[in-house]
Parts: sequence; structure tokens; C-alpha cells
Amino acid sequence: MADREFTSASFNQFLGEHKLMASRCRSCAALYLPPRALCPACHGEEMEWVEMGSSGVLLAFTTIHIAPTAMIEAGYGKENPYCTGIVQLAEGPAISAQILGLDPRLPAQIAVGTQVRVAFVERGEGDKRRTHLAFEA
Ligand SMILES: [Zn+2]
Repeated sequence: MADREFTSASFNQFLGEHKLMASRCRSCAALYLPPRALCPACHGEEMEWVEMGSSGVLLAFTTIHIAPTAMIEAGYGKENPYCTGIVQLAEGPAISAQILGLDPRLPAQIAVGTQVRVAFVERGEGDKRRTHLAFEA
């Protein structure tokens, strides 16, 4: 697994294995999520994969009523809104994903700073079946 390219395809492949993987610069130890192949901080080109733990904190969120096609197919939309948010992982990097376990109809009850855990959601049929990153409040 260490020799996978630092691309979103590899990132998604890892998600399929239920691993949340970031790339880390071997020169300056900066972490990138989603992964980057080059380090913008020090211009280093030597990256390595590191697996993130499962805990993070909700930094920001929004409720989605106008869903993109993939989410409409998953049953979301105007009548069944969902939450997305930005989560900062314990290791430092932040990433946006769907947030489960919160009531999108009651956004006033959703608090920034809520502890969340990594979750993996399988969505789609047949060839389109894919694992998506999510967080569970
Ligand atoms: Zn670097």
C-alpha cells in the first residue's frame, strides 16, 4: 500500500478498504487530506501514506436541501435533507464530508465543536458502488 500514487483514486481505493489515509511530507511532516503528491509548504516531493485515527471535531456544517444527483439517488433531497460539515481530525488536517447522526431539520441544535467519528458509507449499485467518507456525531 505504501507505493500507491498520491491521487484521489488511491484515496478512494483506501476508503473502500475502510481506511482514511492522508499523505505526509517526509521533509517537513505536513499532512494533506485529501492527499497531495507534492508538498506546497516546502516543495518536497517525497510523500508517504499515513492512516488517520477515527476521531475529529466538527468545525463547520451546513444542511443540504438541494441534493446533487448521487445523493438524490441515495434518498436525500428537499423532503429528506442531510448535513455536511468540515471535520478537523485529531491529527490536524480537516476534510469535508457528510455528517451522520445529527438532525438536519434542527440545525440550531447542531454545535460546532461536537466530537465526531469516522464512518464509511457504501452507496450506489453494481459498478457504481463506492465507499464514501462520512462522520458520525
Ligand atoms: Zn513538506
